[in-house]
Amino acid sequence: MARHAVTLIPGDGIGVETSAAMQRVVEASGADIEWQGAEAGESAIRAHGVPLPPSTIESVKRTGVAIKGPVTTPVGTGFRSVNVALRQALELYVCLRPVHSIPGAGGRYDDVDLVIVRENSEDLYAGMEFEAGSEEAAELIALCEEAGLGRIRPDSGISIKPISVTATRAIVRYAFDYALAHRRSKVTAVHKANIMKHTDGLFLSVAREVAAEYEGRVAFDDRIVDAFCMNMVIDPSQFDVVVFPNLYGDIASDLGAGLVGGLGIASGANIGEKYAVFEAVHGSAPDIAGKNIANPTAEILSAAMMLDHMGEQACAERIRAAVRSVYAEGETLTADIRKASGSSLAAATCTEFTDALVQKLGCG
Ligand code: ATP
Repeated sequence: MARHAVTLIPGDGIGVETSAAMQRVVEASGADIEWQGAEAGESAIRAHGVPLPPSTIESVKRTGVAIKGPVTTPVGTGFRSVNVALRQALELYVCLRPVHSIPGAGGRYDDVDLVIVRENSEDLYAGMEFEAGSEEAAELIALCEEAGLGRIRPDSGISIKPISVTATRAIVRYAFDYALAHRRSKVTAVHKANIMKHTDGLFLSVAREVAAEYEGRVAFDDRIVDAFCMNMVIDPSQFDVVVFPNLYGDIASDLGAGLVGGLGIASGANIGEKYAVFEAVHGSAPDIAGKNIANPTAEILSAAMMLDHMGEQACAERIRAAVRSVYAEGETLTADIRKASGSSLAAATCTEFTDALVQKLGCG
């Protein structure tokens, strides 16, 4: 088996615990990894004075692959979000978030199997904001009025929502290519094109154009985002690969996580042409950090996605099988899952749950 160099960014809060658990499980799967530690978030501020030091970006550029715990962006550092900055620096234009039921995880359904493909570079995440009362906001308000767009209250803050043909074409193509590569039969585009004609409307028309290139190979439909949310709750089995602009994709990820057992099991990846950074959907959860009670499943399943990406599918599948087995047995599960399934059984610690996985992998 080839040895793979991987940048490991443990991050903040529960990231310290979930990353250590993930490392143990990946090693127990038989994968041969050379971990190269790097910092982001609060630990990076302590060591380098900035939340995203150049050495972290350089490490990912060297290895090509990183696995990252959640990071908090401390207020007043000049950074809007470390996560957004990292995605921009590495041109990670795809955010991939599978939503799969794990029997025993306390989800609302046992048969959810869909994939969220979220555009990662623009929309309201572009960071173009004007503070209420600022000169720039006043200029923009005057410009809109001059252009006959109507009146904006002078005490308004303003965020810009850019949606481009280029980025939409790239993300929708990725969704269709993903569907083909993973034998999935349908792509659904989610939008609010009836209200935002020049942004979401553009997203929908570009999605239709791209869909035409795949006609006969992958089916296509679209949903308005509010109807999508209702349909997800009523019957998620109608969705297969679902492609979103940035903000709706973020919200849908948590909705999807909630349907299958919560943030503790929701995995994800940020992917670009050259680099990929794998990370759980959840944040640093400061309320439970340092208590050894966090659920590391989300980061462990993100690592399985990373192993798939590196061509180590057998190790990835061993990890997924071990996870399914520990959940199905139901003896050693963390507090979030006990709560989601309404169980009064004692909860396992993060370490005990990880021990159970390592044992399943034959390394106990
Ligand atoms: P962000 O803004 O970065 O998304 P947040 O504080 O809004 O962060 P999270 O940190 O993702 O949201 O999580 C919200 C809550 O869900 C946490 O406070 C915690 O109680 C719970 N939670 C999240 N991840 C986990 C996990 N891996 N294990 C157990 N509980 C979790």
